[in-house]
Amino acid sequence: GAQTARRPGVTVDSSKAKTSLEALKISLRQLRWKEFPFGRRLPCDIYWHGVSFHDNNIFSGQVNKFPGMMETVRKITLSRAMRTMQDLFPLEYNFYPRSWILPEELPLFVAEVRMMKDSNPSWKPTFIVKPDGGCQGDGIYLIKDPSDIRLTGSIQSRPAVVQEYICKPLLVDKLKFDIRLYVLLKSLEPLEIYIAKDGLSRFCTEPYQEPTLKNLHQVFMHLTNYSLNIHSGNFIHSDSVNTGSKRTFSSILCRLSSRGADIKKLWSDIISLVIKTIIALTPELKVYYQSDIPAGKPGPTCFQILGFDILLMKNLKPMLLEVNANPSMRIEHEQELSPGVFENVPSPVDEEVKVAVIRDTLRLVDPLKKKRKDTQLIDDYSYFSLHHCKKCCFSEPSMKDKQHKHRSLKLSLKLKFYLKLGSCQSPEQAPGASGELAAAPPSPEAALPSLCLKQVFPKYAKQFSYLRLVDRVAALFIHFLGVKGTTKLGPTGFRTFIRNCKLSNSNFSMAAVDILYIDITRRWNSMGIDHKESGMCLQAFVEAFFCLAQKKFKSLPLHEQVAQLVELCECRLAALHGKRLLWG
Ligand code: ADP
Repeated sequence: GAQTARRPGVTVDSSKAKTSLEALKISLRQLRWKEFPFGRRLPCDIYWHGVSFHDNNIFSGQVNKFPGMMETVRKITLSRAMRTMQDLFPLEYNFYPRSWILPEELPLFVAEVRMMKDSNPSWKPTFIVKPDGGCQGDGIYLIKDPSDIRLTGSIQSRPAVVQEYICKPLLVDKLKFDIRLYVLLKSLEPLEIYIAKDGLSRFCTEPYQEPTLKNLHQVFMHLTNYSLNIHSGNFIHSDSVNTGSKRTFSSILCRLSSRGADIKKLWSDIISLVIKTIIALTPELKVYYQSDIPAGKPGPTCFQILGFDILLMKNLKPMLLEVNANPSMRIEHEQELSPGVFENVPSPVDEEVKVAVIRDTLRLVDPLKKKRKDTQLIDDYSYFSLHHCKKCCFSEPSMKDKQHKHRSLKLSLKLKFYLKLGSCQSPEQAPGASGELAAAPPSPEAALPSLCLKQVFPKYAKQFSYLRLVDRVAALFIHFLGVKGTTKLGPTGFRTFIRNCKLSNSNFSMAAVDILYIDITRRWNSMGIDHKESGMCLQAFVEAFFCLAQKKFKSLPLHEQVAQLVELCECRLAALHGKRLLWG
């Protein structure tokens, strides 16, 4: 009977999948899941969006986008988040090029470059200017001197990031290339991160030369964007994953390995770059998350595939260029068959990498798998507890029995945990809400290759937890936001924070608190992109918090000042609320 029972299929709404639709369809076919290409009246288990969390109004299931991700990884916001982490942990965050935000930091940029040139006259830097919100190399140019920034028009209307240009990239076949790696943020709280074992390498189409005034404008030499290089006469479409202008990252690794490079070290550096970058992004994401999906209200859970653009330096050090909230999941490209005649043709390199990433993301968030795991646990529990009782009554426990007892205890604890978890969830939130539980025939999983996504967090959490300081500052910020649905703190909220954490004293009056609030908030709002809400944004609060920490713990390094103040605030709030639980 069990063998013939109907397998409850996971339901996926693909109506908003846009350009990722083809790769999604192939993945769903491989998984034998049920696709709803035009949406569905009943809720689906998973909603696959091509652009943003807000593509659909959803109140249950899972969505493949986090609210606020696009805003959080914009060039300026990412640069700010990385700067905050570089201020706290300069050595740990040296994988991101030194950057300045234009127009507001133009004077700082000019002054710092002059200072560095004065102290090291042999330093001949190049800088890259990238418009905020741009993509595919749009509006990007290189300069040798701060005075070369094109101030006319665009900078004023369209802010940008100016960044130190990495002049000595690793070359393959004399060409510059970058790596697109796919990273799955499976959950924000608790933090769960996976990295795809393979990615893409995108090649320039002109041999690389270090930047000079003569070659600065040669985009096919300096910019690795596929969308630019495809227009070069030298672009090579290829059926093979290890030749042409777009190759798999694994084929590059093979090549490097045959040259004697330490690939293990390279991977470990890449993993640490990814974890540290996500740690820099989570505070902002949590603010958006609580605003869009307030705790206690029905809402979906989120996961997201991110595209990390990484450049390898000649010495194999990976440098982060940017993070894409909507990495292209297209598995075909346009080809000019004869002059003026274009056709979409399949791209085997893209298909190999991208279908695996989408399919395995779905396998990891599979709501039925979790349900099956829970049932398996209950079965295991009843079998082992029964078996265990019998043995206890009749015999002296052997070593095997002791292990057995231990497992039984562990299972019972796990079971209690899962039952508790289940009882907290509403029917809509329960995994696999749309499918009934049935004894399933062998799953299509058995026929699938092993997962291409590798868990890196919490696997390596111990090494990186100390970096999650701004997360704790963000938790304080969110606590004092008060009214759900906002992302900015009002003056009363800020005063309550100071009062509840007992940070005001004779040297720091409440009037001074108000001045601090007004000064910082006004400055951040004058340069902010989001003018929808008034009040203090998270970054402004972080700046105010750092100010307070510096005032209170003068002689310590910044990260220790901040850590001490966070600790102090958490303790005082815990005392106030009579429980430490919240801040654990
Ligand atoms: P876009 O979103 O427009 O693609 P990127 O930040 O990815 O902007 O930059 C485009 C390209 O410029 C990258 O793919 C890379 O080849 C090159 N590039 C960007 N930043 C740097 C840098 N700091 N040093 C060297 N090359 C860079």
